[in-house]
Amino acid sequence: MRHRTNEEGTGFKGRDHDQPIKSEAQYLEHYPICGQDLNMRDLGPVLHHAKSEHQPLTPEH
Ligand SMILES: [Zn+2]
Repeated sequence: MRHRTNEEGTGFKGRDHDQPIKSEAQYLEHYPICGQDLNMRDLGPVLHHAKSEHQPLTPEH
């Protein structure tokens, strides 16, 4: 069985079968309460910022 890859040696050029990958910047939201920008795909910090009163997260969190 022959496996096709994107390698130059095989001469096979792959194509995307879905939409192009989005930039990470498109998932950022600004929280007006604490003024931080947050990646909406990171559930832990999103739940933290969902509280009406909270402290800004430190960079290591
Ligand atoms: Zn917040």
